[in-house]
Amino acid sequence: MPSCQLCGEDSDNLKKTKIEGALMKVCSSCSDMGEVVEQKKKKKTKKKKKKTTYRPKDNEKLANNYGEKIKQARENRQLSMKELADSLNEKASLIKKVEREDLKPEKSLANKLSKELEITLYVNPEVYDTSVESTDNKKATLGDVADVKEQ
Ligand SMILES: [Zn+2]
Repeated sequence: MPSCQLCGEDSDNLKKTKIEGALMKVCSSCSDMGEVVEQKKKKKTKKKKKKTTYRPKDNEKLANNYGEKIKQARENRQLSMKELADSLNEKASLIKKVEREDLKPEKSLANKLSKELEITLYVNPEVYDTSVESTDNKKATLGDVADVKEQ
């Protein structure tokens, strides 16, 4: 079963949602935190389709806006940098650098932050690509609905 990329909860009904600039597949409660991307029309945004062979895990990249994500998640929880740092056994100065994106967190730190703040810091571009195809054509367009009424 697919699981929410934000909270990790298993759900059959994941919504493609834009949260803080990143496209994620999240459960319906997490989708409230962002903007659900409509899937009626295949809207091709400027997505570079790179032909990449599937490489599990290694392919995951730190999100571009990792600092912003951490900061927002932290502020949502009304935690100070120090409080967050303390709960992770890290230094506040480190968190500060990471939030300012002066420093890329090591994977272990990124994982701790992800868990603590329930955010996704590593993204796997391939996951998004495949998700685009699966759900289109399921919903009737407005035009189709009108046609049915006429008959
Ligand atoms: Zn969720």
